[in-house]
Amino acid sequence: RTVYLNGEYLPEEEAKVSVFDRGFLFADGVYEVTTVLDGKLIDFDGHAMRLSRSLNELEMKNPISKEDLLEVHRELVARNGIEDGLIYLQVTRGAADRDFAYPKDAEPTIVLFTQAKPGLSTSPQAEVGIKVIGIEDQRWGRRDIKTVQLLYPSMGKMMAKAAGCDDAWLVEDGFVTEGTSNNAYIVKDGVLITRHLGHEILHGITRAAVLRFAREAQMKVEERPFTLKEAQGADEAFITSASTFVMPVVEIDGAAIGTGKPGAVAARLREIYLEESRKAAV
Ligand code: PLP
Repeated sequence: RTVYLNGEYLPEEEAKVSVFDRGFLFADGVYEVTTVLDGKLIDFDGHAMRLSRSLNELEMKNPISKEDLLEVHRELVARNGIEDGLIYLQVTRGAADRDFAYPKDAEPTIVLFTQAKPGLSTSPQAEVGIKVIGIEDQRWGRRDIKTVQLLYPSMGKMMAKAAGCDDAWLVEDGFVTEGTSNNAYIVKDGVLITRHLGHEILHGITRAAVLRFAREAQMKVEERPFTLKEAQGADEAFITSASTFVMPVVEIDGAAIGTGKPGAVAARLREIYLEESRKAAV
């Protein structure tokens, strides 16, 4: 694979980052994951805008213009022959002598690499849905910033696997915030319910698109918190993320949701999302 590191395209074995990089020492960095379908980028603008926002919130320099970033994404897709897959992008504050205070003169480190995922959009998982468990949300309080500190979400995934499930929904003060790496939704009596934006959740790019399509399809949308108990009594549940699109949730803490099969609303939103995103892909 060819990867991109600080302005250069390199074979992955030759791409090296300093041991003093603050991404490594402090998780002082942010990332984005953009999906590629049929060799084209899904919602590139949304991811580029969120990257700028994350960097701003951390007073970090943006090392690349949006135009150049698009060019790098396209170049990696071409060089690595990606039809369906993901592009991972990470910007850290760079290398500096270890100190908690932000260094004044560090140059940001920017890395992009690709992951081929043949058949990404035809995942058989969407036909059967996923099972989730509820766990306490023990992440830090600025989840709207897409930082590389992903240890608790990793622990959550492991807890889910240990329970024979696919993922965990995180619960804070009795209410679901989101999934370990996705936004969480329920459907009750035709109303789509998902937590409102704030510091408590990541502002999903897929979430924004799906809510827009739902409203265009005349669905009623409520952006508010919900409990695990309300979710267990819902007609449907699902998650969204760049890499899973719209993925039905059929079980929460052992309780079947609705019929225990993927719901019609989730299936329809998945179809609309894939169709519209493909049309708008760059
Ligand atoms: N919430 C969290 C915690 C995430 O890590 C992610 C994606 O990585 C999402 C939500 C979904 O965001 P997006 O739709 O932009 O992929």
